[in-house]
Amino acid sequence: MNDICNTLNLGVCAVDAEGKVLLWNDWIAKHSGVKETDALNKPLEQIFSEPVSPSFLAALKNTLTYRLPVVLSTALHRSPLPLHNVSGTNQQPSRMYQSITITPIQSQRDESCCLIQVTDSSTSIKREKMLRAHSEILKKEATTDGLTDICNRRFFDAHYEMAVADAKRQKYPLSIFMIDIDFFKSYNDYYGHVAGDDVIKRVADALKSQLSRATDIVARYGGEEFVLVMPNLPQQVAKQFAEKLRSAVFNLAMPHIKSQTLKQITISVGVCTGIPENDNNLLNKADTALYQAKVKGRNQCVCLPLSEAEEYLEQ
Ligand code: GH3
Ligand code: MG
Ligand code: MG
Repeated sequence: MNDICNTLNLGVCAVDAEGKVLLWNDWIAKHSGVKETDALNKPLEQIFSEPVSPSFLAALKNTLTYRLPVVLSTALHRSPLPLHNVSGTNQQPSRMYQSITITPIQSQRDESCCLIQVTDSSTSIKREKMLRAHSEILKKEATTDGLTDICNRRFFDAHYEMAVADAKRQKYPLSIFMIDIDFFKSYNDYYGHVAGDDVIKRVADALKSQLSRATDIVARYGGEEFVLVMPNLPQQVAKQFAEKLRSAVFNLAMPHIKSQTLKQITISVGVCTGIPENDNNLLNKADTALYQAKVKGRNQCVCLPLSEAEEYLEQ
């Protein structure tokens, strides 16, 4: 019987009605560092050099008193007993995650006893942590643009729909900023695609650095185009903010000798601000504003109200 117990790849321990140890197998001796001879006939809670968790002692008391089995799952009780995983290397032994079952049994003398079974759940906990970390990475990758590390188009599409719905319901203005790098094709043709990528990254950083409210987002709309969504800005403030974006990129002073504006990288900005209603489309109108900024000569901002009524109020 002892041999069977000692061959098991789990901890087996039995205690009597007073909580004194009756059985202490090799597995538990190995992971606790306490030999069978030092454990037998001693109260379980006094055997270890570190404290046993109060939830374990409460569960043991309950089983001895009410004769009901208890399971301490790893999810709620990570490491009730001071057991350690002994590694072959020189590393410090690590505290073992455990899953524990306490079962009422009857001794040969008909006394009430408990059987405690301990399994090592360290591997499953490690796997769970790894899966959770992977899922966080995947979630981030699904919504982040790989080149610039700002939000991607997929995130923008979902966010835009929600932002419009919120603004519509609560009747506050929403501003959409469409931004496009000027003469970027000729930049790529002259400086190369790698240098072009670097410009896109630096422009994205400059735009992002201008945001300070948790409600605002900047996303890469596609290629060398970006979009910002900002709720609750009066039209005049949105206009000033567009100018701030334009000058933030201008102040990077990145040379672009093939540009037909100034010999450096510039952006054009189209903004549309308004309280969304049924059919009007902020995004389309911001795009129209961007087109007008391009036609007017680039390196500038054009702001359009969402509806003529708002334009009238603005004047
Ligand atoms: P405009 O001032 O009218 O915007 O002119 P433009 O040359 O910027 O516009 P156009 O749409 O003709 O060209 C956009 C260029 O952006 C084409 C492509 O070479 C470049 N581009 C798009 N995506 C990327 C990218 O991910 N990396 C790099 N390096 N270039 C890109
Ligand atoms: Mg473009
Ligand atoms: Mg462009």
